[in-house]
Amino acid sequence: MMTNNPEYRRHTTVPVRVGHVTVGGDAPVVIQSMTNTDTADVDATARQVADLARAGSELVRITVNTDEAADAVPRIRERLDALGVNTPLVGDFHFNGHKLLSKYPACAEALAKLRINPGNVGRGAKRDTQYAQMIEMACQYDKPVRIGVNWGSLDQDLLARMMDENARQPQPLGMHDVNREALIQSALGSAARAEEIGLPRDHIILSCKVSGVQPLIRVYKDLASRCDYPLHLGLTEAGMGVKGIVASTAGLAVLLQQGIGDTIRVSLTPEPGAERTKEVIVAQEILQSLDLRRFLPAVVACPGCGRTSSDYFQHLAQDIQNYIRHKMPDWSRQYPGVEEMTVAVMGCVVNGPGESKHANIGISLPGTGETPIAPVYEDGEKTITLKGERIAEEFQVLVEQYIER
Ligand code: SF4
Repeated sequence: MMTNNPEYRRHTTVPVRVGHVTVGGDAPVVIQSMTNTDTADVDATARQVADLARAGSELVRITVNTDEAADAVPRIRERLDALGVNTPLVGDFHFNGHKLLSKYPACAEALAKLRINPGNVGRGAKRDTQYAQMIEMACQYDKPVRIGVNWGSLDQDLLARMMDENARQPQPLGMHDVNREALIQSALGSAARAEEIGLPRDHIILSCKVSGVQPLIRVYKDLASRCDYPLHLGLTEAGMGVKGIVASTAGLAVLLQQGIGDTIRVSLTPEPGAERTKEVIVAQEILQSLDLRRFLPAVVACPGCGRTSSDYFQHLAQDIQNYIRHKMPDWSRQYPGVEEMTVAVMGCVVNGPGESKHANIGISLPGTGETPIAPVYEDGEKTITLKGERIAEEFQVLVEQYIER
């Protein structure tokens, strides 16, 4: 994987094909997300998958929890294909996946990957049989599987067995260590069983999700040191708003910087009325901030301070950021490499001219109380000074012209 991060050493993993997307190996770290619609509602689910895909989600997971949902999956796939959205769909199965996959073969066909939670496939002897049935379906339809272990639904039989064994040790481990080991053993044991049943090694992705940043870092470092399956990273139940974004970023950034993680999902609880696509944008910003991938030109904007005049500067910075994100789908098709650009939007003369000169194109406002007169710099040279109330629009035109050139 080509990156601009000189510190980055990717943990070696076996590449897995999920539809046309490769997860692991040398492939770029893949962004994925999940719908929150009722999958039985074909219109709403196809619409949300398309929105997530257009925002940059390279895989989209959908819940498959009922007969109606399983029956709807092939129609969602058809609807997406008709819309020109080829993003692979991942089916999320819990409790009844073995029944749904055998009853609805078209559902299994339409999905590019199955997510199986070993903690939610039954208990005791039933668990083994039902897990085996799901893996056999994956083999039959040649689908990769994410074995997704989650602290909230850890295999209780395994955990109880490990706690008993630990209690008999002369120096028992602490509870956190037993829990972490149980998560990892559930993932690795389930993967080994899947391979015994016949699922090829290059059809297996693992995840061990927990809801705390430090436990997440420890569990994934441990897991990565013990296997070469590609790893799906995510802080589960990260929470809402700033807390969810910061916690996800903190946990994922530490692991990604150490080369751990082949696909990521930022699990944010959407605030009422908020776009579901926000989690995709946060995931892109994490990878871009770490210089692991570039998705759009970087906008360098100062925070503003007592020197900025009213809120004009904030509006200008926001307008430019929104404009660039809006134009990116077209620009990336027409102008390969455009995402490597830097655009500076600065609030005053203290750092404005310097940052603007370092950017490909930059604008620097004058500061408090002065009429908006903003010099523009291109490739380090001042080219024009914009004046008046239409500076944002005029600067957008200059950015577009720069990119065309
Ligand atoms: Fe404040 Fe000027 Fe620095 Fe922006 S560049 S933070 S407006 S001093």
